[in-house]
Amino acid sequence: MADHYDVLGVSRDASPEEIKKAYRRLARELHPDVNPGADAQERFKLVTHAYDVLSDPDQRQRYDLGGDGGAFGGGGFGGFGDIFETFFGGGGGGRAGRPRDRRERGQDALVRVTLQLGDVVFGTHRDIEVDTAVLCETCQGSCCQPGTQPVTCDVCHGSGQVQRTVRSLLGNVVTAAPCTACQGYGTTIPYPCATCQGQGRVRARRTVSIDIPAGVETGLRLQLPGSGEVGPGGGPKGDLYLEVTVESHEVFSRDGDDLLATLEVSMPDAVLGTTTTIDALDGTVDLEVRPGVQSGDVLTIKERGVTPLRGTRRGDLRVGVQVVTPTRLDAKERALIEEFAARTKAPGPQLAQFHQGLFAKLRDRFRAG
Ligand code: ZN
Repeated sequence: MADHYDVLGVSRDASPEEIKKAYRRLARELHPDVNPGADAQERFKLVTHAYDVLSDPDQRQRYDLGGDGGAFGGGGFGGFGDIFETFFGGGGGGRAGRPRDRRERGQDALVRVTLQLGDVVFGTHRDIEVDTAVLCETCQGSCCQPGTQPVTCDVCHGSGQVQRTVRSLLGNVVTAAPCTACQGYGTTIPYPCATCQGQGRVRARRTVSIDIPAGVETGLRLQLPGSGEVGPGGGPKGDLYLEVTVESHEVFSRDGDDLLATLEVSMPDAVLGTTTTIDALDGTVDLEVRPGVQSGDVLTIKERGVTPLRGTRRGDLRVGVQVVTPTRLDAKERALIEEFAARTKAPGPQLAQFHQGLFAKLRDRFRAG
């Protein structure tokens, strides 16, 4: 941090009059309209800040005592910012001496798409209707009627700025503001394109073909660079974002790249074992249920889950077994079960540790989902 006295080139006991004089001299030399270099702008900031501090008796005293005295970027900065603003013409216009570009980057656009869980397993393709600004075909973004051109603004002579000299305490200060005749563009359009009313773009509905990768999830946004809105004056396109929602499936739910489901197995099948064929999201899978399978056992079918968004190995299909106990028995069936019970001498109900197996977790996920 440069010393404020050094910045202004005055001694530490300089009088207020000497400080003001030094500042005026430097401000004229470094003023952005006179001296547009970045280096000069930086020095101009420092000089103005030093003057802000040293021209205020209280702040100067604090600075002399080693206090921050409105360190750069601190207290004194706000007032300085305002001064700086007036030199650069305030908002709306371009930088001093340079007209504003008619072409601006277009906005990003967002569309939403709803997918089925099956679409996510391998990825899918969609043609999506998008309503955005597109390039005006009549004028190709020039904003002018075909055969005509923009003309140099006769108020600002093409600079986009009008300058005004204001007398102030610091001497004559030149302020620049965007030219109101041309809104700072430096040119005016005598014959605006009739199709787009001189905007260079029109609204249109178009179809965008999109390949949606496998493994996407609800809330994910896919970015399609350069597929968004054409900017004012036919400016470069923004990006298009596609926000994905994946509908919940009545059987399968998703756990990362794995798919989860429950397989209900009747009591005799659980006891004796069986084979079955289930419909996965991508065709059928043959499953073998071993004799004596328990509720909570998980059958894992490798690589029949979701293809991951990044990576190549598919997740698994995990099927949790739930044994279904018969609830209605006729007399004959009841007699058979009683005979079975008497024969096996099965122990009565036994207290055991709470079941925290995989299936319990699976079931909790289903409830949460
Ligand atoms: Zn046009």
